[in-house]
Amino acid sequence: MKNKSYDVVVIGAGFAGLAAAIEAAESGLTVIVLEKMKAPGGNSVISDGGIAAPETEYQQKNGIEESVPLFFEDMKRAAKGYGNDLLLKTVAGKAKEAFYWTKDHLGVEYMDRVDIFGGHSVPRCYTPVGLSGSMLIKKQVKKLKELQTEIRYGCYVKEILVDNEGKVSGVAFFDDYRYPDHEHKANNKFYARKGIVVAAGGFGADVEFRMKFDNRLDKSVQTTNKLSSTAEMVKSSMAIGASVVDLEKIQLGPWASPDEYGFGNGPLFADYIALPYGILVNPETGKRFTNELSDRGVLSEAILAQKNPVIGIADQKAVTQSGWDIQKAIDKKVVKVFSDFKTLALEYDIEISELESAIAEYNQMIDNGIDKQFGKSFPKGATPISQPPFYAMRLWPKVHYSMGGLVIDHKARVLDQKKNPISGLYAAGEVTGGIHGAARLGSCAITDCIVMGRIAGTELAGAQ
Ligand SMILES: Cc1cc2nc3c(=O)[nH]c(=O)nc-3n(C[C@H](O)[C@H](O)[C@H](O)COP(=O)(O)OP(=O)(O)OC[C@H]3O[C@@H](n4cnc5c(N)ncnc54)[C@H](O)[C@@H]3O)c2cc1C
Repeated sequence: MKNKSYDVVVIGAGFAGLAAAIEAAESGLTVIVLEKMKAPGGNSVISDGGIAAPETEYQQKNGIEESVPLFFEDMKRAAKGYGNDLLLKTVAGKAKEAFYWTKDHLGVEYMDRVDIFGGHSVPRCYTPVGLSGSMLIKKQVKKLKELQTEIRYGCYVKEILVDNEGKVSGVAFFDDYRYPDHEHKANNKFYARKGIVVAAGGFGADVEFRMKFDNRLDKSVQTTNKLSSTAEMVKSSMAIGASVVDLEKIQLGPWASPDEYGFGNGPLFADYIALPYGILVNPETGKRFTNELSDRGVLSEAILAQKNPVIGIADQKAVTQSGWDIQKAIDKKVVKVFSDFKTLALEYDIEISELESAIAEYNQMIDNGIDKQFGKSFPKGATPISQPPFYAMRLWPKVHYSMGGLVIDHKARVLDQKKNPISGLYAAGEVTGGIHGAARLGSCAITDCIVMGRIAGTELAGAQ
């Protein structure tokens, strides 16, 4: 059917777009979601689904002292002066509500655990059962079905339409898109009485676009993103006057393995086990070179500075107490298992005496509770690396997340060059910029998507 009208048109069926659509539909608006792929989810569905929130029952149960200001301060520190304080306060302040919305309103089940990742000062990250964002996507799609709100697949939005008064009035799209053939012209239009929400995700897989902002990121640098994570909606929004920020701030995932494609299975071992409870060494020197719990930006740069993949090492105690099953990574030979340090050193061509002294020094520091070398805050449960077998993985960063994107305000309205809201244009999720600044902390993207997506939906309900 051609040229239909709705109150709201949402572009992108990931966490942010679906959250916006649910809020708008629950407020009684007519909504349609346009998704270019043949299935929902974007990067959301392949994510681990980990979401960060302060002051939860999980933290209380584990005796973790936490507050909204502490969460805000952690994100602000990682943003290194680039994040917008009001946006960060909005995400931190509404994070708990967003987490419980996924759990109690949508029915996502979370594991009975709370994790810490680099840059967070306390454990505050919750993982859905199944370690995947697919449960939240399924629940969001189900809720939209109950609300009789359509998600239309294979619809590639090409252009944002603006009326004579300068208000965004709809979108033009190609309605029979098959990835990756994006050359077709728009053959359909949908109008939006109240406005549109751009929730088209990041551009980590758009090599041409990302190289304009960081020319190191050519096609030889792998990505964890779906290959459909491209920048066309950033460009279409810019074409009608939207401003952009921090496009050069492209996050590399430091916990990735060069020995598998995409995100893979290695990050489970690296991020949840080796970085908090083990060490990283440069195989050329056999020595540690950084605080393994630095934020992703700092850690990725530290790894790149070693010039070659580095080795993450943990022992059996760390693996057992993490509670994670890393068998898939072992089966893929991404994580390797060794009965002693000698065979591990041989495998990665490390000078054994250097490795042994690095581990002995680290173990001594764990016993003393202070990392004199790099200032790592040892998490609860960290013990000396001493119990065989030992586990190891090669790490080399991959493009993971775009911190930059469309400039929005705390009401999810897209701003023009003069910092005024563009009437009828809203955005949420990874397509936006200015929240996480220099580095987005682990699990905070999903918090951001849900908080800002819901705000876009509720703001549209009140919009003229
Ligand atoms: C492997 C992996 C693991 C991750 N794990 C975590 C984690 O555990 N915790 C965390 O906080 N973050 C994680 N992240 C980051 C997080 O998942 C993403 O930032 C977030 O899901 C993005 O959601 P979104 O709704 O903004 O975009 P997406 O989920 O990417 O959705 C955007 C959608 O828009 C569609 N689209 C794009 N352009 C158009 C167009 N022109 N027309 C129509 N449709 C369009 C896309 O096809 C896509 O479906 C992970 C990321 C990856 C890649």
